[in-house]
Amino acid sequence: MKFKAILFDFDGVIADTMEDNFLAWKKAFQNYGVKIKKEDYFILEGMKLVKLAETISEKYGLRNVPPLSLVHLKNTNYKENYSFKFYPKIPELISELKNKNIKLSLVTASPREKLNLTLSKEFLENFNEVITGDDTANGKPEPDPYLMAMKKLEVKPSECLVVENAPLGITAAKKAGAYCIAIATTLDKKYLYEADKILGSHEELYEEIFEGKEDNGFFEVESLAEICKEALQIAHKALEDIGNEGRIEVFDESVTDISTKGDRRISSELIKFFKKKEVPAILCSEESGRIKITENPKYLIAFDDIDGTDNYYRGNNLLPHCSVITIFDSTEPIFKNALIAGVIEHVSKKTWVAIRGRGCFLNGVKTNHSEKKVLNRRTLILIDHYANSSSISQLNLIYPVSWVKDFGSSAFHLAGISSGLFDGYVSRYQKAHELGAGYLLVKESGGFLADWTGVSLDMKKYDFNAVYDVIVASTSELGEELLSKLGG
Ligand SMILES: [Mg+2]
Repeated sequence: MKFKAILFDFDGVIADTMEDNFLAWKKAFQNYGVKIKKEDYFILEGMKLVKLAETISEKYGLRNVPPLSLVHLKNTNYKENYSFKFYPKIPELISELKNKNIKLSLVTASPREKLNLTLSKEFLENFNEVITGDDTANGKPEPDPYLMAMKKLEVKPSECLVVENAPLGITAAKKAGAYCIAIATTLDKKYLYEADKILGSHEELYEEIFEGKEDNGFFEVESLAEICKEALQIAHKALEDIGNEGRIEVFDESVTDISTKGDRRISSELIKFFKKKEVPAILCSEESGRIKITENPKYLIAFDDIDGTDNYYRGNNLLPHCSVITIFDSTEPIFKNALIAGVIEHVSKKTWVAIRGRGCFLNGVKTNHSEKKVLNRRTLILIDHYANSSSISQLNLIYPVSWVKDFGSSAFHLAGISSGLFDGYVSRYQKAHELGAGYLLVKESGGFLADWTGVSLDMKKYDFNAVYDVIVASTSELGEELLSKLGG
């Protein structure tokens, strides 16, 4: 078990109370002639009761009824009519966790009185801490209730798993910094997307906790993203440490690109780092080839020590020199398997990280692409420098209609598109080293990627040593226009 503590929401997670809660609210509002719908309540569930009464009143234009009276009415209705039952597997789950000395907490917006009414003393005693709606001034979606539980349990957010069933609770858990699993017991999965993982039932929760990811060899996405960020910092430090010596060229027939002592230093530091982290992966780098880190690899980690034609050696500290990392969740990946991507530009220290399904971030802030939709003199299109004569003649078609540049690092070009610095990039011979990361950065920022015939890269096999023809753009409109000029 990698979590020291598990924090459970109550309604809709521990106890199947949502229907009764809804009926109690429905009756309370009916008193004032308002007929509420199930979704009105389910979507707000977890909110402090007074706030919830206020929000629904506002929705139905119910004025002059103090929210507190609605809450009292609801609580009375509930007491008069409830049929308490646990979700399946919950009693076993709780007692087994207790036996394993995992710290447990209940964190609910419900009042303490309701818990005492519905739960036995023995069951409540399983929990080291019980935080109710009476305990914090701010309720979910603010992180306060979860933070209070963590403080009382004396655990760090990163050591906690939160189990929730509703959007506001998930937001609260994520704001508190915990890992959050949502169970789709009361709401469709589409409402629960903020959670780190969504499960369909309590049986799945039981399996996840006791037979979960730890054993199938996969890491949590968050830890992999942290590993990627740390690796980029290590690459940066390696380059700083080696200083001017890093610029000395190492001539090697087996390497197609210019190789420097800086490249070599970064490569060996990264290999050491990934081995230390015991990521079950195959490492691919230009300098060191393919290295298996553990016996049963699950991931492919591709990295380029320094990207930039002129590398550290010739670049003489001028922009851009990037280190690039892509983590795929398959050892024989297609592009769609790219899970984490990271690029660091060593002069500015700017760091781009993309996580599949979560977005692209520049220095921790979510990026946006430029939204340019047409080619004109204000559209900045990057080109690669491996163009051959036939692709150069095609590129001539875009010179008169756009602003064309080459910064000498495709990693920088691709990362720049993901953060709105550039509008497009075209290459006939794009090395896979940077393209894996570039693919995810651009995808996650909402941009466009296809080959020169317009076929998306999604399903293409990722081969570290291959080159690809790509058209990349901030928007699909711009991508289509580039395709119409260059494609076919
Ligand atoms: Mg709930």
